[in-house]
Amino acid sequence: MELNHASEELRDQRLAACSVCPALSEHTCRHCGCFVRFRASLQDKRCPLGKW
Ligand code: SF4
Repeated sequence: MELNHASEELRDQRLAACSVCPALSEHTCRHCGCFVRFRASLQDKRCPLGKW
């Protein structure tokens, strides 16, 4: 399976949103259960709350 990676800029914008989000628990999102650094690095993923 080929995965499309987000640009570093996009990934960093997403992680900035996660970093101030109350749903972030350590490195994991409470809504999707994902390790956010991984989820944010994939182009086609979205924040489950629509923040990115
Ligand atoms: S993916 Fe969305 S809901 Fe989850 S921590 Fe990041 S900004 Fe918050």
